[in-house]
Amino acid sequence: EAARIGRSSHGVTRDQLSYGGRRVCEVLQENGFEAFVVGGAVRDLLLARDPKDYDVATNATPEQVKRCFRRARIIGRRFQIVHVVMRDEIIEVTTFRGLHDSETDEHGRVLHDNVFGSQAEDAARRDFTVNALYYNPADETILDYHHGVADLKQKTLRIIGDPAVRYREDPVRMLRAVRLAAKLGLSIDPAARRPIREMAELIENIPAARLFDEMLKLLTSGYSLKCLQQLREEGLHHGLLPLLDVILEQPRGEKFVRLALEATDRRVKEDKPISPGFLFATLLWHEVLAQWDKNLNKGERRIPALMAAMDQVLEKQCQKLAITRRIAGDIKEIWMLQPRFEARAGKRPFLLLDQPRYKAAYDFLLLRAASGEVEQALADWWSAFMVADYDEQQDMLVPDK
Ligand code: ATP
Ligand code: MG
Repeated sequence: EAARIGRSSHGVTRDQLSYGGRRVCEVLQENGFEAFVVGGAVRDLLLARDPKDYDVATNATPEQVKRCFRRARIIGRRFQIVHVVMRDEIIEVTTFRGLHDSETDEHGRVLHDNVFGSQAEDAARRDFTVNALYYNPADETILDYHHGVADLKQKTLRIIGDPAVRYREDPVRMLRAVRLAAKLGLSIDPAARRPIREMAELIENIPAARLFDEMLKLLTSGYSLKCLQQLREEGLHHGLLPLLDVILEQPRGEKFVRLALEATDRRVKEDKPISPGFLFATLLWHEVLAQWDKNLNKGERRIPALMAAMDQVLEKQCQKLAITRRIAGDIKEIWMLQPRFEARAGKRPFLLLDQPRYKAAYDFLLLRAASGEVEQALADWWSAFMVADYDEQQDMLVPDK
């Protein structure tokens, strides 16, 4: 049923795998189980890209997997998976899953699918053909159940099965299609693309926490601008997520958001860490500014009006997108510090420099200046002030008007 593709035609050797990806397969096989590297890692290796992480699929049950390794934990999220720790890697090991007996909600969305199955069934319940490839390090062959290798050669992202059914089972797949196509330079197969527009509203049924994870993946893929443009083209943004409306439709904040996303994409490509708090703070800033204005017009005082605006904006987003408490805290700290950049007299600039979140807030100020929201001279003043010595700083202070 599956095509067996040898190394001479796909070219991926076992020593291209990460230590952990390879070892986990070997240990499971030494214990008499079948084990393969699967999913994004195989796909990325075929594209000569460095995989972000490794997933392994096996016929061993989670309990059996756990017993093969010293450092392994069973995680009980949507389905039971085992996290095996190898040096500095965490390898996700899943047992082959079947298609049957899965419980769906009234929209056809799969609620639980923790039923073990054959490898062929495991392949069939994956999302895209290029994600259903199984690499066996022992003989360096790829098992290809759905012509994924050919699709990858043709740069096509094709869904396994009937696209409408697969999107109904799990609407996140529409977002994954957009993200993977943008990131990997693939085009979405017309049959998979066509139903997206009319099924877009199913995004509403995705739990807010999962939507947040998915949006974060999209925004930190290194191709955030491309992903967002594609989301718009597929009709996947309008009214679905207040966040996307904000990013894509706001006239005033457009340049600011574009600069922020370009900077994020650059950092991802340079392998630098990126802060979700900073990212979401940028995406929502112009909403905050607009709300702040409204509150000021109602006669509220400046800082209380800002605080209220921050809460109003975050509240609205969290209805659809579960921004975690910690990230919401980071976002607010960055916003809160912004008005303080205006005070350049007395002790206040020194106190601001001592804030733990000063650097993030300063980077944020630079973006505001680059997008024309505040004067470049203000950002330049802070750039100079933060590196000046104490005497120079004293000379730089600007008395309040
Ligand atoms: P990346 O890790 O580069 O973002 P990936 O394809 O590896 O991409 P993961 O979320 O790590 O994405 O998922 C691993 C594999 O699990 C996928 O390659 C796919 O086979 C399967 N998978 C993930 N999400 C879904 C889904 N929503 N529906 C069906 N299969 C999925
Ligand atoms: Mg992955």
